[in-house]
Amino acid sequence: MNSIVCKFGGSSLASAENIRIVANIIEKDKKQFVVVSAPGKRFDGDIKVTDLLISCYKLSRAKKSFDDLFNKIRLRFEELIYALKVDIDLKSDFDNLYDELNNCQNYDYILSRGEYLTAKIISKLLNYNFLDAKDFIVFNKKNKVNLVRSKKLFKSCINKELCYVIPGFYGKDENNKIKVFSRGGSDITGAIVAVLANLQKYENFTDVDGVFDIDPRKCKKAEIIKMLSYKEMRVLSSCGAGILHQDCLEILDKNDIVLNIRNTFKIGSSGSFILPNHYVKNKSLCGITGEVGYVIINIEALNISRNNKLLQRIVSNLNSYNKEIKRIIEGVDNISLIVKDDDSFIEEKIEDIVGVTNLNISLKRVALISIVGLQVKENRLLQNKIFDSLGKISCRVLAIVHTNQDISFTIGVEENKFEETLNFLHDRLF
Ligand code: ASP
Repeated sequence: MNSIVCKFGGSSLASAENIRIVANIIEKDKKQFVVVSAPGKRFDGDIKVTDLLISCYKLSRAKKSFDDLFNKIRLRFEELIYALKVDIDLKSDFDNLYDELNNCQNYDYILSRGEYLTAKIISKLLNYNFLDAKDFIVFNKKNKVNLVRSKKLFKSCINKELCYVIPGFYGKDENNKIKVFSRGGSDITGAIVAVLANLQKYENFTDVDGVFDIDPRKCKKAEIIKMLSYKEMRVLSSCGAGILHQDCLEILDKNDIVLNIRNTFKIGSSGSFILPNHYVKNKSLCGITGEVGYVIINIEALNISRNNKLLQRIVSNLNSYNKEIKRIIEGVDNISLIVKDDDSFIEEKIEDIVGVTNLNISLKRVALISIVGLQVKENRLLQNKIFDSLGKISCRVLAIVHTNQDISFTIGVEENKFEETLNFLHDRLF
């Protein structure tokens, strides 16, 4: 038996065929803890089980019949059971789910059933024990997992000699009611199990090869980053390269656990290893990432920087519209804010947001591009190379965004130059 936790995402569990691949991976080195998501999409246009459950709940709330959809979910699981030849009867579980849907009181319970039913089937298939996440993952009043209490419960639930399948995505609150993480939360369950079981490695199996140095959908020359630090991974993810739930990275980093992201369907390749920061000494570049959909709000007026109330009001208005402020840059006679704005909402509402009419306001849409790597920000030679490269493709830099982290260097460029610039910089720098 291998004391390891591995988590399989929805695409790895979408069909019986995929589950057989998963079972082979687990059985090969008898992985001790297996965390599973709910079945995902089998083909383009298919619907994830969790989304079907949400739709059932919505129909029930609207006092409409959810029977057709409910039967669809039931059929998906029955098909799996039949194709995998698993001897299991989930009738009472489906009856409970149906009742809960009728009552419409317990949204989190309903949402969690995809993972619950999948874990039951897979545990039977592998002849592993089923360990319900609600028996040991406990949330506190602030919706954070209480690791101390969870650890005690976990210890009392498991036998070190046995192997377990655990449903991802949920735990329980202090009143013993099922509570789910945010979407994609099975990644967090895997990280928590690694912490509770004192493991050094967490294998996260998904449908991509690992972490790429550039988005492979945007660049054919994208390569897997074999090893990177959690800090680099977090910056890459925050700039749009999200493969994993962000919260799981923090937990793993804090607890000195190595994360291996691997592709279920390419088992020969070892994927990416993400390590706690102090293990990674490599100072070279890690990746390049970016996103369109930002706007620079530039406001000019004499001595505007002394007008604290104005800035406070703008920030508070943007917050009330749920707009993420990426950066605020203050000069003596001008203030600039870089704000995420995919839907051009800011253009429409700018007068409300600023609240004063006699100011000189200009708006410019930008894409942000971040070059990520340990100590990138301090590396003047690299920065010269970046600007030199941008000159070659006549790309205007509309903003340089300094962060207090030393591992990324971010520039704002015109949105229509985004992909060209991203690819060109990748070519020149990597
Ligand atoms: N099934 C849930 C979702 O679709 C959780 C997960 O997959 O991690 O978000």
